[in-house]
Amino acid sequence: MVSLLIFIAALGLIVQAFIGLAYFISCMLEKEKRATVFAGLQFLGILALVAVFFFLAGIGFFQTKLGLALLIAGLTLGALASFLLMRKTGANQRALKGANGLIVGEMKRHDEREIVFARNRSLRPDSEQYKLFYKEHPEYEEFDAKRRRMGGPLGHPGTIDRPHQGPNVAATLASVSIPLHLSTSDKVKPQPHPELRKEIKLGSEEATERVKGYARSLGADLVGITEINPLWIYSHRGEIFWENWEDWGKEIKVQHKYAVVFAMEMSLEMVGTAPHTPTMIESMRNYARGAYIATQLATYITNLGYPATANHLRHYGALMVPVAVDAGLGEVGRLGYLITKDFGPRVRLGAVTTDLPLLPDKPVDIGVEDFCRICKKCAVCCPSHSIPLDRDQTVANGTLRWKLNAETCFEYWGNIGTDCNICMRVCPWSHARTFPHKLILELNTRNMIARRLFSFMDDIFYGKRPRPRVAPNWARFNTGTMDEIENPARPEIH
Ligand code: SF4
Ligand code: SF4
Repeated sequence: MVSLLIFIAALGLIVQAFIGLAYFISCMLEKEKRATVFAGLQFLGILALVAVFFFLAGIGFFQTKLGLALLIAGLTLGALASFLLMRKTGANQRALKGANGLIVGEMKRHDEREIVFARNRSLRPDSEQYKLFYKEHPEYEEFDAKRRRMGGPLGHPGTIDRPHQGPNVAATLASVSIPLHLSTSDKVKPQPHPELRKEIKLGSEEATERVKGYARSLGADLVGITEINPLWIYSHRGEIFWENWEDWGKEIKVQHKYAVVFAMEMSLEMVGTAPHTPTMIESMRNYARGAYIATQLATYITNLGYPATANHLRHYGALMVPVAVDAGLGEVGRLGYLITKDFGPRVRLGAVTTDLPLLPDKPVDIGVEDFCRICKKCAVCCPSHSIPLDRDQTVANGTLRWKLNAETCFEYWGNIGTDCNICMRVCPWSHARTFPHKLILELNTRNMIARRLFSFMDDIFYGKRPRPRVAPNWARFNTGTMDEIENPARPEIH
């Protein structure tokens, strides 16, 4: 009997040592210096415990009354801790309702003209649309005018990485050219061929399999399908490309029944440099991937005989985050982005809306809302204080959520000349998906005690305010010393 107990305890300790070693190696491979030190200390601690255990077992200590009592107490504690960390705690019913779970009151569709990007990108001073818009929304005029004087993101002369930003801005603009190129109406709304429907004849199950498979083959890392909730379709067009001014202010009709929503993983190495220019290259590279996937997927569907519209950086009809939530790709985090189980918030989204009959996915509960309530790391690290820190979710336009201040966030982007992404970089859900991180994630999605424990440990292992990583050589933005690279000068917030 005692031998069996010793065997179980030894097995438990060896498994812990194996996980500790895997985590230590993972931290080294991720080049996370601070985490490597703490993971190393943790591993040494477990090794010491294993050594003491085998020594005591060797001298027959566990055959004594005191030894047996300690062994039983240790095993009981271990079993209790494993049970408390692994059992599935209550489901979040709000999350299981998808974006509908956020709605608590009367909600109006969002007007694209009011979105900070559309205002800054499309409205030209002295134009008719400019006068019309600010007459209706004088509250934005001064703020937007200041922004225009200062320049926007995409590496204007005030960029955080000056004077070495040039090559990275060049790469960013190269990627931006793809969504722009793919934003003409023939690309985003290809000609449907209804005559082909009878010839091809697809049941919804097969159509779903083919559409998802094709999206993945084009490079999508996650794909989900939802029936469209009209509340998540913009009410009026506000973004103008290729001088299609006749569209500005036009009502956007809810045309299709389904949305195929997809996500592209952003590289940890590049996002890790946020808020510096490599993270901006990565954002735009993935927007380019999104445009490439969305336009081909839309054309694929029209070639099957059904109408389809591509949604990408230079042509959105729907709000990407809520439709992605409804399509089961993840939950909305405190930072306002989608948090996926596979990559955290380190994704960019695209979609195709269509009437091709498809099988919708279900929204998921992966524990994000509960985790974000405890964590707050993005809010602590946000340099423009745009993410709510000391308050819980509030009601905005009939939805209960942590409301990001898009105006101050965008203002900060303009100040530093990149799209920042600090919140995405520091989020504990953004870590690499190595074995130990996957294990932690699995526990976080199931269990509320695990969320508290691992949120606390993330602060210890990675710091409350993790530093940016050094950029890969090809995207370097600094030719200074290692200290200058790891501790770049912070721009002032005006
Ligand atoms: S950093 Fe923390 S609070 Fe912010 S989105 Fe990520 S998990 Fe939520
Ligand atoms: S992108 Fe930067 S400024 Fe905007 S919310 Fe995230 S951390 Fe804050």
